[in-house]
Amino acid sequence: MNADTTPGLVCAHHHLYSTLARGMPSPPSTPTGFLSVLEQVWWRLDTALDLDMVAASAELGALEALEAGCTAIIDHHESPNAIEGSLSVIADACAEVGVRVVTGYGVTDRHGPDGARRGLEENDRFLREGGRGLVGVHAAFTCSDDTLAGAADLAVRHGVGVHIHVAEGPDDAGAVDRLAELATDDWLLIHGVHLPDGHGLRGTIVHNPRSNMNNSVGYSRPVRFDNRVALGTDGIGADMLAEFQLAFVAARAADVTSSPDTAWSWLAAGWDLVPEARTDRVTWSYSPMEPWHLAYTPTVRAIDVDIDGEPALRNGVATRVDAIEIRARAAEQAARLHALL
Ligand SMILES: [Zn+2]
Repeated sequence: MNADTTPGLVCAHHHLYSTLARGMPSPPSTPTGFLSVLEQVWWRLDTALDLDMVAASAELGALEALEAGCTAIIDHHESPNAIEGSLSVIADACAEVGVRVVTGYGVTDRHGPDGARRGLEENDRFLREGGRGLVGVHAAFTCSDDTLAGAADLAVRHGVGVHIHVAEGPDDAGAVDRLAELATDDWLLIHGVHLPDGHGLRGTIVHNPRSNMNNSVGYSRPVRFDNRVALGTDGIGADMLAEFQLAFVAARAADVTSSPDTAWSWLAAGWDLVPEARTDRVTWSYSPMEPWHLAYTPTVRAIDVDIDGEPALRNGVATRVDAIEIRARAAEQAARLHALL
C-alpha cells in the first residue's frame, strides 16, 4: 500500500434517514436531555418520512460517505409510517452511488405491537430476499421483552447479528439486564455510554463521539471495555477520519496519555465488521496516512476511490452518479419533509 492510500473506511453505525434533518424547523421546546432529544427531534422526523424522502436521504448520505472515503456503511433505519420496502430503498440508493451498506430496520414498540411486528417483518423480508443486513432494534427501553426475543430469534434464523442502541442515555441503563441472555458476539451494541464496567454483554461496542457530545450523554470511555470497539457517526455524516480525530481528542480530554493508535484501532475494527471494505482503495490528499499524522491534520480529503475494483470517485467527484442531481433531489425532499414538521 502507498503512504497516501488506505482501504475504504467503514462507518459502523449510521442513520441514513437522518441526512435530511439539517435545517429542519426548531423543536417546539428546547430539548433538555437524552429522551427529550429523541422526542422533540428524531421521533418527529422519522414519523414524517415517506419512501421518496428515505431514498433521497440515503442517496445523499451515501454520496457524502463516498466523498469522505467511506465505502461501507452499517445503517440503522426507522420510518414508522413507511416501513415496508424501506430497507430495499436504502440498499438500492447505496448501490447506485457504489457504497456498500449493511442495513436493518430499528424495531420498536413505541408505535404499539403492530409497529413492532411490521418492523420485524421488514427485517425478515429484506434478509430472506438476500439483502445484506443485521436485525435492527431501536433500544431495549422502547421494546417489550417479546419484541427483543423476537429480534434475537430472527437474527439467529438468518445467521446475522442484532444492531441495537444500548445505554446511550440514563433512560436505557437497564438494558444490560434485559439483553444479557440474548446478545451474542455478532451483535452491535451502539453507544454503551451508561454500561457499567464489566457489564458482560457480548458483541462489538460502537463508539459515536460526535453524537455523544452533541446529545450531552457523557463519555463512554471505550478503553474500559473488553469488547471489540468500532467507530460510528450515529447519522451525522460519514466522515470517518473526522470521527477518528474526535474519538482521539475525546480520549485525550479524559486521559492525556491516550494515543491516536487506540482511536485508530477502533476505526480499523470496521474492517472486521465489513471485510469487503479492505479490498476498496482510497487515495488521499495527504501522506502518510498514519494515526499520529492524521490526529493533527484536520483537512485530509479523499481524491480517488475504487470500490470492488471499479472507480467510484475521481478527483473528488462521484463517477457513477451525478452529485449535483442527488443534491437537488435531496433539497426538494428536505423541503417536503420540513414542511411536515
Ligand atoms: Zn444511532
